Amino acid sequence: MNERIERLPAWVPEGGGGVYASREVSGVPQPGRLSAVVTRARALTAPELADGLRGGDRGALARAITLVESNARHHREKARAVLEAVAEAGGRARHIGISGVPGAGKSTFIEAFGNMLCDLGHKVAVLAVDPSSSLSGGSILGDKTRMETLSRRPECFIRPSPSAGALGGVGRKTRETILLCEAAGYDTVLIETVGVGQSEIEVRSMVDCFLLLMIAGAGDELQGMKKGIIEIADIVAVNKADGDNLTRARATRAELERVMTFLSPVTEGWRPPVHAVSSLAREGLGDLWSAIGAFYSHVEATGQFAARRADQSVAWWRALVDGELRSRFLARPGIAARVAALEDRIRRGAIAPSLAAEELLATIDSFPE
Ligand code: GDP
Repeated sequence: MNERIERLPAWVPEGGGGVYASREVSGVPQPGRLSAVVTRARALTAPELADGLRGGDRGALARAITLVESNARHHREKARAVLEAVAEAGGRARHIGISGVPGAGKSTFIEAFGNMLCDLGHKVAVLAVDPSSSLSGGSILGDKTRMETLSRRPECFIRPSPSAGALGGVGRKTRETILLCEAAGYDTVLIETVGVGQSEIEVRSMVDCFLLLMIAGAGDELQGMKKGIIEIADIVAVNKADGDNLTRARATRAELERVMTFLSPVTEGWRPPVHAVSSLAREGLGDLWSAIGAFYSHVEATGQFAARRADQSVAWWRALVDGELRSRFLARPGIAARVAALEDRIRRGAIAPSLAAEELLATIDSFPE
């Protein structure tokens, strides 16, 4: 007899196949529910996934994200159907980007901050945008052991960065994933990225508020001050302001505050405040949340919130159109060979890139769809 009785989530129809992203596991059959030992369940249809999402089911959310992140052609239609079905839920949550160099304390911070937000009654989703994972299959954000207490809270959903190779190679589809989280009822979406200069500009263009986590004495350059990362921050938090480090953290905070007065703010009329916090001691986090609240009040009152969201929608649309046009063009018979030949010539220095681009584009109409 199998001791673990695994129950289907409430939204799953009977007679399923395929593996569930999440299962309810209990030693005792729950009253009013059919108990079944489920190892495989069939793939859910798009309406079933959408219903599951709207019901706040985390398993449905996890599966829907996997679906939209899949590059497999046969997943695209279904992914689109799910996104369409929940589109009206979009835009409801606060989208907050969190960046900082490895070791700045991002996961410790999110663990503490996320728990605080859950205690305040929020539903928090955490997404990781990890530039390393799509390139190497590795992860700077080291997902496995992070945010342990937060990940166990029912009000929180943590989605690690996608693992390369799954479902035919995946990349984080952050905008789509945010929408799915909103549809599942999450009102605060924290989008974590590593402050190494690659992904935060991209993340900046998808969030309302960008929070930069810094530490005392790690070197300005290392932390992105000279890379311009600090220029895209709306709020800066100097983490690890505790114990022996407290004095240095406070000095860094004061210094950064001075630096901020010289930078032109990324959000008009808003001088990014600098807070000293301790994620370990859970200090200063309430003030930081108040600062985020003040930021939202400012951008909403000045119309920048709506303008930014509108710009982001257009940018998203453009990216989708660009991507689709490109993949349709490249799918035409004969184009792939032509592209490969041109790339080879560019590599050998036999043709200038600009000329090669012209040559390819001049032939668009000669390749039938
Ligand atoms: P990440 O790489 O940015 O996600 O950083 P981690 O959250 O893994 O933290 C890196 C190290 O800094 C860990 O050893 C943490 O325990 C430590 N750390 C994080 N936040 C604090 C803090 O507020 N105070 C102190 N003293 N240490 C911290």
